[in-house]
Amino acid sequence: MRHWHWLIEWDTPTLGHIKAIKRVVYSGRSKYQDIIVIETYEYGLALVLDGKTQSTEFDEFIYHEALVHPAMILHGAPRKVLILGGGEGATLREVLKYGSVERAVMVDIDEEVIRVCREHMRFMNEGVFEDKRVSLVIGDALDYVFNTNEAFDVIIADLSDPIVEGPSYKLYTREFYSRVGEILSPNGVFVTQATSPTNTPETHAVIYSTARSVFPKTTYYHIFIPSFEALWGFVITSKTLDPRGLDPERVDEALARHGVKTRFYDSIAHIHMFSVPRNLREFIERESRVSTFDNPVYMPA
Ligand code: SAM
Repeated sequence: MRHWHWLIEWDTPTLGHIKAIKRVVYSGRSKYQDIIVIETYEYGLALVLDGKTQSTEFDEFIYHEALVHPAMILHGAPRKVLILGGGEGATLREVLKYGSVERAVMVDIDEEVIRVCREHMRFMNEGVFEDKRVSLVIGDALDYVFNTNEAFDVIIADLSDPIVEGPSYKLYTREFYSRVGEILSPNGVFVTQATSPTNTPETHAVIYSTARSVFPKTTYYHIFIPSFEALWGFVITSKTLDPRGLDPERVDEALARHGVKTRFYDSIAHIHMFSVPRNLREFIERESRVSTFDNPVYMPA
């Protein structure tokens, strides 16, 4: 029998996933996290931060299209977009597909993630950092959001999960979402990745309940990501536009109008993502805890 090397990845102390490693492409440690790029058998190249798969060559488009397009289409004609995190550059790639976008600011804390992805995972960021509309900021998104005076039409949080003492847990709190609300333009839309409703359901539900405590119009949606071996969750919100009211017919019409080409997202995928089964709806809606700076929600540890 062949002797494999494995990536073993933990969602919680009692639940994990394994992938055989064909080749280690890069391995290093930045100021903030362990960074590795491996080649896998089923998913091609994979970016793994602190032991957790962030995106893979064969299915990253599902995660990035699901994260970006519902928010862009709900807004309708976004001109200014702010991305928090998103080191691979693929969130930026999806945002730049909209001709209406005049300015896209991306704030990631870790220059090294961006460098490694530009060197080893070009399929996610080919040309995006050279686009004249882009302004790349290396820094903590928390500081950026609290210090900027600029208003944005769409704000997208593509951050690592809120792990204990990690760089991102404060960006899932009520204080942070309140400030995001202040820098959203009047019809602004905010969307965040929100961990897995199946593997870490309490963390997902608290992120939703926290956003709902700040924004009147908030909902969640889910999609299965093969390389995460999990249903993945997103929370989308706005002060004025109801994400639940986004008519699926508008999705195809808006993608065509903006000339946006997708591989995964269209009206049918939209209906699928926003049609959450009863048991999950009941679990998520029951949650009333709110994450705060003093009492943040974390991934189970
Ligand atoms: N797809 C991902 C997932 O599955 O969770 C998230 C993708 S992305 C690689 C996460 C990025 O968030 C990383 O590049 C990391 O450096 C960045 N990040 C974490 N905390 C941050 C913070 N406080 N400010 C800005 N960027 C942050």
